[in-house]
Amino acid sequence: MESKLIQIRQEPLSKPDWIRVKLPTQTQYFELKNLLRKSNLHTVCEEAACPNIYECFSRNVATFMIMGDICTRYCHYCHVKTGKPTALDSAEPEHLASAIFSLGLQYVVITCVTRDDLPDGGACHFVSCIDAIRAKVPSCAIEVLTSDFSYNDAALACVAAAAPDVFSHNIEAPRRIYRQVRKKGKYEESLRLLHLIKELNPSLKTKSGFMLGLGETDDEIFEVMADLRMIGCDFLTIGQYLQPTLKHAAVSKFYHPTEFEKFVSFGKELGFLHVEAGPLVRSSYRADKLNSHL
Ligand code: SF4
Repeated sequence: MESKLIQIRQEPLSKPDWIRVKLPTQTQYFELKNLLRKSNLHTVCEEAACPNIYECFSRNVATFMIMGDICTRYCHYCHVKTGKPTALDSAEPEHLASAIFSLGLQYVVITCVTRDDLPDGGACHFVSCIDAIRAKVPSCAIEVLTSDFSYNDAALACVAAAAPDVFSHNIEAPRRIYRQVRKKGKYEESLRLLHLIKELNPSLKTKSGFMLGLGETDDEIFEVMADLRMIGCDFLTIGQYLQPTLKHAAVSKFYHPTEFEKFVSFGKELGFLHVEAGPLVRSSYRADKLNSHL
């Protein structure tokens, strides 16, 4: 316990000048915020304090976070609130579909808080959201970025049957440090989940992502990438971890943009259809680029 506190209190590394956050300049940013509040919708952009929020909202892009804004897990890197979640909002699928329609989106990413309190981890609610979007905006490609559903295969099968265009689940960190980063997750099980969903529905594409700056080595980064390709993962994102507050895990290293380029090259050699990597890349950053691969 003491060593953890020492680690938390240590002087944080200062941010290099390539980590620059753009400020809001366009009215679209504020309009999107208003739409979200009116529709009672949450975004991971706001809840996770994403550094790209001004850029994405100004482009009319957001990653919707369903099933509330309170997560049942505490992960050392994550800024999302934790605690006892509220009941599911049965109107959320309709509100979500209407917001996507209003924004004219042709590609949307839907993610969630982890809901260990629900027997299916919220899989059925994902299905309701996918169905509502398909009904209201049939031309919109849907990416779901899910929790691990406590590695419940029946829950995963429900999502597979609902046929999102892209199924995404973040591996987040290499094998050695995985449990430090995601206390309740399992590296091998997350790989299995990504593999299994393709077996259940071979028509969907799979995607994963992880963060750098949590104490990993280059060899471990290459290993995660190879492991993901081994199970047929199509798309990959790699971004720099940024410590949201002093209570969260400290940043072990800031990677230079040229180092990210090295990982993109390696990803291409491995055969990923697309690798998005860079200091401010997040799993949903510029996700609409994937439309060209669907
Ligand atoms: S990168 Fe993703 S999470 Fe961050 S603001 Fe953009 S859409 Fe939202």
